[in-house]
Amino acid sequence: MTYLKGVGPKRAESLEKLGIRTVKDLLYHFPRDYADYSSTVDIADTVENENNVICAKVVKRLSPAFIRKGMTIFRAVVADDTGELTVVIYNSSYQFDALVYGETFILSGKVTGNLLRREMSSPVILKASVPDKIQPLYHLTEGLTQQVLRTAVKNGLTLLNTEIYEPVPKKYLIENNLCSLAFALENIHFPKDIKTLEMARNRLIFDEFLVLQLGMNLLKTKKTESTGCKMKGCSISEFEAALPFELTNAQKKAISDCISDMQKSVSMNRLVQGDVGSGKTAVAAACAYFVAKNKMQTALMAPTEILANQHYETLKQFLEPLGIKVCLLTGTMTKAEKSRIKEQLLSGEASVCVGTHALIQSTTIFNRLGLVITDEQHRFGVEQRARLSSKGENPHRLVMSATPIPRTLALMIYGDLDISVINELPKGRNPVFTYAVTGKLRQRAFGFVKKRLDEGRQAYIICPMIEESDADLKSVEKYAADISKNDFSGYRVGLLHGKMNSEKKEAVMSEFKDGKTDILVSTTVVEVGVDVPNAAVMVIENADRFGLSQLHQLRGRVGRGKHQSYCILITDNVTEQSKKRLRILSSTTDGFKISEEDLKLRGPGDFFGQRQHGLPRLRIANMAENMDMLHIAQNIAKRITDADPILLKTENKGLKRLVDDLFSDELDLN
Ligand code: ADP
Ligand code: MG
Repeated sequence: MTYLKGVGPKRAESLEKLGIRTVKDLLYHFPRDYADYSSTVDIADTVENENNVICAKVVKRLSPAFIRKGMTIFRAVVADDTGELTVVIYNSSYQFDALVYGETFILSGKVTGNLLRREMSSPVILKASVPDKIQPLYHLTEGLTQQVLRTAVKNGLTLLNTEIYEPVPKKYLIENNLCSLAFALENIHFPKDIKTLEMARNRLIFDEFLVLQLGMNLLKTKKTESTGCKMKGCSISEFEAALPFELTNAQKKAISDCISDMQKSVSMNRLVQGDVGSGKTAVAAACAYFVAKNKMQTALMAPTEILANQHYETLKQFLEPLGIKVCLLTGTMTKAEKSRIKEQLLSGEASVCVGTHALIQSTTIFNRLGLVITDEQHRFGVEQRARLSSKGENPHRLVMSATPIPRTLALMIYGDLDISVINELPKGRNPVFTYAVTGKLRQRAFGFVKKRLDEGRQAYIICPMIEESDADLKSVEKYAADISKNDFSGYRVGLLHGKMNSEKKEAVMSEFKDGKTDILVSTTVVEVGVDVPNAAVMVIENADRFGLSQLHQLRGRVGRGKHQSYCILITDNVTEQSKKRLRILSSTTDGFKISEEDLKLRGPGDFFGQRQHGLPRLRIANMAENMDMLHIAQNIAKRITDADPILLKTENKGLKRLVDDLFSDELDLN
């Protein structure tokens, strides 16, 4: 950047803070908005007390009025065919001098006065002949002004103009009425009019989606490597017969998808996506059973120790009666225990190992690892998925996620995986009754909770922890102490939050699981996957602070047993928007529907949390708003990679470079 005209070392430093290091970065630093001086109104039609843009000739320049020291008022009268208006400028003789008598200007500013005498104070002044009547407004940082950036971009554009290449093969552009990249880059910064801006934006949105989807397709191709773990078909009826319940059809379908994948000579890469409570663990267990029958091992990785423990208990219960040894590997074990388990894995004595991500990945050596299962994968990014080093000989991979995502998005976010959806809950589940109330009704809500506790049930109370700050932590601790002294004196109250070490968390969680506490006050650490069937009530404080999908996940912690379950959302923030959101939650328990609504209401940024999906950041495209373009780009990406799976053809060279840039940036960042 230093070498670009008008930049220099100092500004280059400021630009770097915006992530701009090269001219390409600069050209892809798109305006956040525009100041539009392209459509003007007649002076007679200006609206008082609002911003107006007029085009008028200077017909009179008045002598400056010196009000007092340091305060001079300059006035000029401008006119068009419909009337006159006085322009008022404070102190700036420089600005006043710009208003040359007899010349025409575009003036933008707030109009005050009345029908007889209109004024415009301190307007933006442009010569009527300026080429850029729509001016870009950029995100700035210290040491930069809009003008500096505009000039830099202008210079950057002239530099590139001769060199700009067209990464997308022409036929796709023509087919979809898309402009050239050169035109798009020029017009996203300096559009001639609204229409060219729209064309530019469309093209750049298209590019962004296309490159992203191509990247995902490439990842998928890369992963279809031959596996050293091709399995033989065998029946799992013994496993099914030993289960305490009948598998749902959706579970059976997911299991058979996996089993048929694992018999192929390329590695399985499958996502099992199922709403909370849909029974993904049983699917994992069935796969582990199948793998064990093939005399190979399974690793199940969970995001937290609590979940690892829970999966261990479940898998042990399902598999050990069938003679399959399941072991657990967590950070809180002693060194001796860990090395004993690792020996069992190395010797092949243990068939299934459950543990946290880090533990299984680092130093653990398997005898013959055939399948790696990751739970709640949406917390890990694409890069991590891509990197997940294969231990052994390219084992099969199964990812389980409880985040129901509309199909188009899933194609993008999990485009590197095949997808099975569990769209059915086990029979006999009663939907969780959900109510939204204000804080005024807290006492009644607590009364209701007590009744359920007295019937022998247990309850969660969720308090949001906005930041993992000490102040927030205190307030959760205080909350728990308060209710156990006052509202729930005589009941046993537990407290769980993310700042506890895993040993402590473990202890609190198992006390709750074993029924030794009645109420668990918790932050969102219980969000993921915890299964306590006797817990039948959940109260969520400050419910408006959570996203809909997150509330749905939280609510999924109840309604897991035979008891009718309840979820009470407490909020004092009763805006139309928050009411609408909570109403959606009360009216449906369909996670897919909820996520679609969430997407509509908040957009995908929030929907997935802070880049939780792990995709590279989108600069200009928006997955919710530009759904049509997403479809077009996905379709073309498919045609391109079907014909040229790893983008070797000359016509795809430009695209390949963009894909490489995007994904390697991503890896550098993390
Ligand atoms: P999730 O998909 O949220 O991970 P889990 O695997 O934890 O769901 O299952 C939720 C609960 O439902 C568990 O208690 C499990 O034993 C039970 N369950 C799973 N499958 C069935 C089924 N087919 N019929 C009845 N209960 C089931
Ligand atoms: Mg689960």
